[in-house]
Amino acid sequence: MAADPRFRALAPWLRERFGQPVHRVALDAGSTCPNRDGTRGFGGCTYCDVEGSGTGALRTGSELAEQLSAGLERIARRSKRGETVGAIAYLQSYTNTYGGTERVEELLGAVEPHLGERVRCVAVATRPDCLDDASLGLLRELGRRVPVWLELGLESASDQVLLDINRLHTLEEFEDSVARAHAAGLETIGHAILGLPGDGREGAHATAAALRRAGCAGVKVHHLMVLRKTQMAHQWRQGELAVLTPDEYVDWLADFVERLAPEQVLHRVTGEAPPEKLLAPLWEVHKTAVRERLTQTLQARGTRQGSLAPA
Ligand code: SF4
Repeated sequence: MAADPRFRALAPWLRERFGQPVHRVALDAGSTCPNRDGTRGFGGCTYCDVEGSGTGALRTGSELAEQLSAGLERIARRSKRGETVGAIAYLQSYTNTYGGTERVEELLGAVEPHLGERVRCVAVATRPDCLDDASLGLLRELGRRVPVWLELGLESASDQVLLDINRLHTLEEFEDSVARAHAAGLETIGHAILGLPGDGREGAHATAAALRRAGCAGVKVHHLMVLRKTQMAHQWRQGELAVLTPDEYVDWLADFVERLAPEQVLHRVTGEAPPEKLLAPLWEVHKTAVRERLTQTLQARGTRQGSLAPA
């Protein structure tokens, strides 16, 4: 008998949704960020290293098309016993709707030739305060041909925490962008970070509740990671910043999952960073083990995803 799933994991849901295995092809458009160039702020979020906002060298449409072709070839090699594998073209650089509609058109144009063939879905990551109506209109048009997921970072439901980490958008802006995306027929995936300074375990509860209320179809969550060359690296070295242990994270994560809606798909429940970049925490716990521990914790509590969400 199959194990009782305590939370809605991504892989089985993808297979159910698309009728085949589907893998992500991450595309780096080299986008910049309004939180670095002064449009919204300077310096970026305190946990973000320079590469998180792209290199500053914008990739052309043809460079993106090359990245996608190479990714699709890698995926094709994973096909087994005649079963084709689909792809999610994932525009990952954080601010893909920043830079005007021409830029958005260029990015989507690189994906367009592969729609329906291998690319079963397009995911676009951006900031909640970077979603103008014209860009939304382009995504809505694309959404008539293929599912379009808009990935929006909330990170914390506390405006004070968002200010303290220099994210410089608010919960209200997140809620507004999600509502506008839904009105345009797009699906949304909300991002959260547990363990941000000043947020605490209660913050994890509030962020889960905010993502549930917003009605995001999917959620990505991970623990706070301190990377080199960030403002947080300095705070951590000064002893001003604590990070979560694996046991703390799994407990907080279980709290978080209990407060989501049962139907929200958990696209990610932990984070990874390249070893050469990661300062803290240095866990010896693989992401598969985090998923297993989450299941065990929910089993031990006798709860599951949505157990503490209001009916
Ligand atoms: S909004 Fe995203 S890309 Fe910009 S500084 Fe923050 S984490 Fe980095």
